[in-house]
Formats: sequence, structure tokens, C-alpha cells
Amino acid sequence: MDVSRRNFLKGSGLAAGSLALTGKVAQSGEIAAEMRTKGLQVSTTVCPYCAVGCGMIVHTKDGKIVNIEGDTEHPINQGALCSKGSALFQVANNEHRLSKVQYRAPNSDKWEEKSWDWAMDRIAKLMKETRDRNFVKQETIDGATYTVNRNEGMAMLGGAALDNEECYLLSKFARAMGVGYLEHQARI
Ligand code: SF4
Repeated sequence: MDVSRRNFLKGSGLAAGSLALTGKVAQSGEIAAEMRTKGLQVSTTVCPYCAVGCGMIVHTKDGKIVNIEGDTEHPINQGALCSKGSALFQVANNEHRLSKVQYRAPNSDKWEEKSWDWAMDRIAKLMKETRDRNFVKQETIDGATYTVNRNEGMAMLGGAALDNEECYLLSKFARAMGVGYLEHQARI
């Protein structure tokens, strides 16, 4: 096919125009994305649902979560989230979400509202009682007695949303309680 000087210049002009237009669309997309979260507080977190542990970015305004999206700089998911992770925003902003402690006493058919301090004290008390009731100081095997300091009435399970430091603290705490049955959900 013969390409005349006139047709060549026409074609080049069209191509340059398309390029300029594409650049503009991409740029306005970036600006729109920036505008959406402009002025919001940004923090990072890890999805609490499964052992993949995708990284997320959380935007808050006046202490309220207004947006959650995948963290593009996170090495695990590089910005992507599955349908469950994408819907995490609805867990934080949900009228059905329980935000106060509900307690039902043994043999009772009623729920009572309690404070967080009350709940923490009760959990600590029950853990201490369980530990003391099930603590094994020594064990004799083949006539030899060993100090074992083992709590046989308790197990602890970590989750995928825990970071290194939290796992470290949790395992230290478990061992201080004498817990031998210590596992992690991501390993099971
Ligand atoms: S976003 Fe999906 S795949 Fe990623 S950690 Fe959450 S549940 Fe797992």
C-alpha cells in the first residue's frame, strides 16, 4: 500500500491524539482515587479471616472506618482481596454487630450487659482457677522424678491475623501459664 505524505501526517496526528487522550484518562483516574481518600487517616492491618493474611489499608474519619481496601505494597496480596476480605468494611459498620459484653450466668436464660473490665477480671479469675486445678509440678517416669510444671487443663491457639510480636507475646504468656498445648491456626 502506498502511503502518501498527507495520509502519513494524518495517521501520525491521530495516534498522537489517542496517546494524549489515554494519558489524560489515566491521570484523571489517579486524581479521582486520591480525592476519594483525601484527608482521611490511614492505617494498615491484616485481614482477620484466613491464614493467607492479606494486608489491608483502613481509612478512618473522626474515629469511624469509612473505607477498607487491599494494600498494594503488601507482599502477600499486593492489593488484591477475596470476596470475604473485600466485605470487611461491613463487619466494622454493621448495626447487628455486638459492641458490648453479653454475659449469661450458668443455668440462667437471660443475657446481661457487662463492662469490659468485668469481663477481663472474670476471664483472668477463671484462667487462674483452671491453671491451679490442673497444674502438674512433677512427673515420675521409670522411677525417676522430673520437674515438669505443666498445665494440663488449658490450650492456646493463635490466629493468622497475629503479627510476629503478638505471636511472641502470646507464646511467652502461654508458657508462663504452663500451657503445653500451644498451636497456631495457620500451621494446622
Ligand atoms: S482477603 Fe480473603 S484470602 Fe486474604 S486473608 Fe482475607 S479471607 Fe484470606
